[in-house]
Amino acid sequence: MDRLDFIRTAISGGQLPHAFLLEGEDVLPAAELIAAAAVCTGTPKPCGVCEACKKAQTGNHPDIIRYELGQNIKSYTVDLIRSIRQDVYILPGEANKKVYLLLQVDDMRDQAQNALLKTLEEPPEYAVFILTCRSKEKLLETVQSRCAVFVLGGETTAYDPAVTESAKALLTAAATGSELELLKAANDLGTDKTSIRQTLLCAGDLLRQAYIYRLAGGQNTLPALDRCSIGTLLRWSDLTDRAAYAVLQNLHTGLNLTKLCADLRRAL
Ligand SMILES: [Zn+2]
Repeated sequence: MDRLDFIRTAISGGQLPHAFLLEGEDVLPAAELIAAAAVCTGTPKPCGVCEACKKAQTGNHPDIIRYELGQNIKSYTVDLIRSIRQDVYILPGEANKKVYLLLQVDDMRDQAQNALLKTLEEPPEYAVFILTCRSKEKLLETVQSRCAVFVLGGETTAYDPAVTESAKALLTAAATGSELELLKAANDLGTDKTSIRQTLLCAGDLLRQAYIYRLAGGQNTLPALDRCSIGTLLRWSDLTDRAAYAVLQNLHTGLNLTKLCADLRRAL
C-alpha cells in the first residue's frame, strides 16, 4: 500500500479528520484528492464522476477555497488567517463540507499560525483544513498536533524485514507492555543510527496504517495497536516521526529513545 493509497482508504471511510497536514515535495495530488473526497456526492469518495468531483477537478467548486503562494497570495499573513476564521463560519453553499486548502505553509509566521490554531482547535463540524508543506519541522508543535499528519514521498516505504520486525516489537511493547518492556524494546534497536531511524520511520507508517484502518474499518497489520485509541495512534506517529528526525540531528541516540519511550507512555 503506498502513501497515496493510505489517504484514499482514509477518506473513503467517510470520517474525515478536521485537519490534515501533508508533508513532502509533491503532495498536491493528495491534497486535491482529499478536497474532492470532502465534497463528493458519490461512492467511493472521490468518485471522480459526480458534479462535485468535476467541479473540484477543474478548480470550480465554491466550497473548496484554495490558497497558494505565488498564485493568489504572497504570504500567509495574520489578516488572511483572520479572514479565513470569519469565513469558516459561513455555511458551505453546495457540499456538506467546506474545504480550505492552504498550500505551502512552511513559512507561515508564528503569529499567523497561532491565529490559525484557534480555528483548528474548534472548527465548525463541516470544516476541513488541508495544509501542505515541504517540512513540518518549521510549524508549531501545537499546529501539528491538531492535524492528521501524513508524510508523503521522499523516503522509501519498502522497509527491510528486520526493520519492520523491530518497529512492530517496539510498538507492541508500547501498546501492551510495562515501562520496562518498552525500554528493553527500545534498547534492542541497538546503536546504528541509520537502522534506528528506519525503524522509527517504519513505526510511524505502521501507526498511520493502523489509524487509517481504524477509520476505514479494515484489517490492521499489528493487532497490539487495536488497544490504542485513534488519538493515541496519531500522537504516536507524530512522536516516532519526531524521534526519527532527532536521529538526523545527531542528538544522543540513547537519550532520544528514552525520551521517546516516556512520551509514548504519556500519550497512551
Ligand atoms: Zn464524486
